[in-house]
Amino acid sequence: MARIVMKFGGTSMAGIERIRGAADRVRREVANGNEVAVVVSAMAGETDRLVGFCREASPLADRAEYDVVVASGEQVTAGLLAIALQAAGTPARSWLGWQLPVSTSDAHASARIKGIDTDAMAASMAAGTVAVMPGFQGISPDGRVTTLGRGGSDTSAVALAAALKADRCDIYTDVDGVYTTDPRIVPRARKLAMITYEEMLELASVGAKVLQTRSVELAMKEKVRVRVLSSFNDGPGTLVVDEDEIVEQELIAGVAYNRNEAKITVGGVPDRPGVVAAIFGPLAEANVNVDMIVQNIAYVAGTTDVTFTVPRTELTLSESVLAKMKDSIGYASVTSDPAVAKISVVGVGMRSHAGVAVTMFKALADRGINIQAITTSEIKVSVLIAEEYTELAVRVLHTAYGLDA
Ligand code: ADP
Ligand code: ASP
Ligand code: MG
Repeated sequence: MARIVMKFGGTSMAGIERIRGAADRVRREVANGNEVAVVVSAMAGETDRLVGFCREASPLADRAEYDVVVASGEQVTAGLLAIALQAAGTPARSWLGWQLPVSTSDAHASARIKGIDTDAMAASMAAGTVAVMPGFQGISPDGRVTTLGRGGSDTSAVALAAALKADRCDIYTDVDGVYTTDPRIVPRARKLAMITYEEMLELASVGAKVLQTRSVELAMKEKVRVRVLSSFNDGPGTLVVDEDEIVEQELIAGVAYNRNEAKITVGGVPDRPGVVAAIFGPLAEANVNVDMIVQNIAYVAGTTDVTFTVPRTELTLSESVLAKMKDSIGYASVTSDPAVAKISVVGVGMRSHAGVAVTMFKALADRGINIQAITTSEIKVSVLIAEEYTELAVRVLHTAYGLDA
């Protein structure tokens, strides 16, 4: 007998037929003698719909009330899955975030899980009842409903698996595993049997939304065995593992893209110590998450240009923060471009192989794709390009690194 956590994403919860399908998968695990806790997402599109209502009600909706609204999608599917299980003869009950509780920080809309009290749930599971927990939601120290940021149900599932000391955390989604790139834009993407935590973490953080970044971080830290597999067909899926569990390591694990960033260039900045801190300090205070940064010597002697990217949703805010510092810094101009995309290649093989970045630059140049900024880490190279070339760039790089199926 094993104790497992099964997580079903939005597409797997989209309508009663699909919820019945998920219930069948749960019942199979129960029939195999396993104790099961299930974490569910809201129905596909539901969270977007709820976010839309909040924006319509007020563009600057109070984040605590925003959480009250958007957390509701998962309450619906948790109850419906419990009903579907009961209707099929399997004892089940829901456990909402505030009931357990799932304790989080008070950072509304992007709260962090601090701990989950699973005593009552574990006792109920031991007595033969399937536990169903809505993903994405928790409760703040002062008792308010919180949510974990978009895609957060993955993190709820991993956190629950860690708290329950589960043997496995199975993430059921609309693709049958983790691929070398998004299979929806590259049909020749290859499914990976295994991927390391580190590579999955980098891929998720640069845009592969198959797992939320924080869920991978948590799985790595808590040593949770995560598997990604399809809700709709049987198959082994992809196992997220430690590096030493992979016998033949590929140079590159995958290619990812992110269209949610915008580029800003502050031109003619006086080139003196402290000026970069003076630009990024106020942005940090405004909670703008700056990603890529490039600084260049400008044509005019004694000045420099600083180019960086911010989340597209924070472009207007960033511009207003920059406008306020014009006189104190004395820069010449601010220009911005929201139509950019960040393309990244990730692989632990980069640590021991030279030339990975050059392959990327050459492949893009051959297609006439201009690179606007570059950043690297030990196992990742990212470039910023014009958004219109996103799909072409991902396909070209997928081929250039020999990843095509
Ligand atoms: P869920 O609702 O189940 O959480 P998501 O939409 O959040 O599902 O994540 C699954 C999606 O992630 C897939 O439909 C796929 O388009 C996308 N995706 C992006 N990169 C990858 C990748 N490397 N491998 C698999 N899927 C990926
Ligand atoms: N329903 C939430 C979202 O769409 C959480 C999730 O599905 O993981 O972001
Ligand atoms: Mg998701």
